[in-house]
This record gives sequence, C-alpha cells and structure tokens, in this order.
Amino acid sequence: MIDFTLTSEQELIQKTAREFAKEHLAPGVIERDDKAEFPTEQIKMMGELGFMGMMVPEEWSGAGFDTLTYVIAMEEIAAVELATSTIMSVNNSLVCQLFVDYGTEDQKEKYLKPLAIGEKLGAYSLSEPKSGSDASNMRTFAKKEGDHYLINGTKNWVTNGINGDIVILFCMTEKSVGYKGISAFVVEKGTPGLSTGKKENKLGIRASDTCELYFENCRIPGENMIGEEGQGFKAAMKALGGGRIGIAAQALGLARAALDA
Ligand SMILES: Cc1cc2nc3c(=O)[nH]c(=O)nc-3n(C[C@H](O)[C@H](O)[C@H](O)COP(=O)(O)OP(=O)(O)OC[C@H]3O[C@@H](n4cnc5c(N)ncnc54)[C@H](O)[C@@H]3O)c2cc1C
Repeated sequence: MIDFTLTSEQELIQKTAREFAKEHLAPGVIERDDKAEFPTEQIKMMGELGFMGMMVPEEWSGAGFDTLTYVIAMEEIAAVELATSTIMSVNNSLVCQLFVDYGTEDQKEKYLKPLAIGEKLGAYSLSEPKSGSDASNMRTFAKKEGDHYLINGTKNWVTNGINGDIVILFCMTEKSVGYKGISAFVVEKGTPGLSTGKKENKLGIRASDTCELYFENCRIPGENMIGEEGQGFKAAMKALGGGRIGIAAQALGLARAALDA
C-alpha cells in the first residue's frame, strides 16, 4: 500500500503555501478576478519560494521536490486563487518539465533556470482554432531555411500568452505524416513575427490570461528546437500527462474551499 503520510518537509511546504495563499492571495482575489488582473507580484513571490519550478532539479535552480510535494502546494494555492494555481501549473508541469525532459544543456541554462525561479514565465502553445483534442491536425508550420525556421500560423487558448516571456510552441515541420511531423520549439516573446491577440474574456480563472498567438514569418534559430524533429507530439502529450496531476490537485483545492465556504 502507498503510504501518504507527509514528511516533515512536505508538512512545511503545505504550511508555507497555505500561509502564503492566506496572506498574499486572499486579499484582492475577487477584485483581480473582476478586473482580469494578472497577479504579477504574487507570482514573483512564488518564484522566490520555489513554487514556480518545484520539480526542477536543484542544479537547474529548481526546488528539487517530488510530485507529491508539488501537488500539496498546488492544492493550497488553488484553494484560494484558481487563476494563480493555473499560472503555476503551466509554468511547472508544462513548461519547466518539458525543458527538464527534452531540453539541451544550453536551453536549460538559458530558459529553465530563470523559469524555475519565477524570473521568467512560460506558456505552452498546442491548441489552434481548428484543432483542440485532435491536436495532431494542427496547421501552424515551421519551414526550414538553412539553420533557421520560418513559422506561420495561429495558436489559441494560450495560458500566460500575454504575461509570459517564453512560449513552447508545437507546430508541423513536415506535412502529411500526421503527429510524426510535429516538433517543439522555444520562442521568446518579442521575436519579430510573433504577436499576441485579444485576451479571452473568460467566465472564471480571469486573473490568468488566455489569448491567441499569431506567427507571421517568425524566424527562429534551429537551436530553438526542443528535442528532436518529429518528437514534438510525444513531448506535448508527456507534459500534458504530468500536467493532469496538477490539475487534479487544483480541483481538490477548489472543492475543499467550496466545502469550507
Ligand atoms: C481556460 C483555458 C486555458 C487553456 N490553456 C491552454 C494552453 O495553455 N495551451 C494550449 O495549447 N491549449 C490551452 N487550452 C485549450 C484546451 O486544451 C482545449 O480547449 C482542449 O484541447 C479542447 O479543445 P477544443 O476546445 O477545441 O474542444 P474539442 O476538441 O472541439 O472538444 C469539444 C468536446 O468534444 C469532445 N470530443 C473531442 N473529440 C472527440 C472524439 N473523437 N470523440 C468523442 N468526443 C470528442 C471533447 O471531449 C469535448 O467535450 C485552454 C483552454 C481553456 C478553456
């Protein structure tokens, strides 16, 4: 049988996350949701606490915790502000983890380290206007030109798309081979040819931004590919698989808060 007794370290993380949420998230939570206002200061503080790269090994500036410790913190954050837990979830499970699993040493040095301490924020861009659950039908295409790629296409529903600094983009590098033609890239915000669309006016989780991303002749170096060419779909699904553990913890925190209200 699995023993779920918390270690003293896990109890400390739980207490730290609970107190942080009470002191720094609860005040203003309704207002931020009303105004769809991003919790910039709070995310910075969470970075300092190690909550933005919880499962990233310490050698890459992460907190080096296990999955259980991550979900314990996630549950506490979600119990007070679901939007903040969503921002935390994307950065931890989808962005940092993808660099841990597939990034080169250079990519880890350049991107993972600042992401793990909350100095930079990441977004994960898979969905498109015409492909959701059927992600392998995506159309965004990266054309190889020498040692660069030229990207064209539209992505949507991108969490942290507006406030993020780094986007993990999944797009086709070879057409007509289905999911085997999908590759992953890191694209820095501010790269010419990448622009953000309107912020979605959501019914909830409003303090977390969700938007469209437009790639119009966006030129990025080949070294920005994460993993191997054609490995993107596998990497995307692996990250989403881990992400679901965090989503379950969010649901648990939210349900607990509803019960306690
Ligand atoms: C708040 C929010 C944040 C998001 N953040 C991100 C993000 O950061 N990055 C990102 O890439 N995406 C993001 N998404 C997109 C999300 O992952 C997609 O909404 C999801 O992939 C589903 O796609 P869809 O909305 O096109 O629905 P569809 O794929 O059209 O599905 C609609 C319904 O049909 C069902 N369905 C689909 N296919 C089948 C089938 N073959 N058989 C039976 N039923 C089926 C589904 O279960 C669902 O109930 C976000 C979405 C939201 C709402």
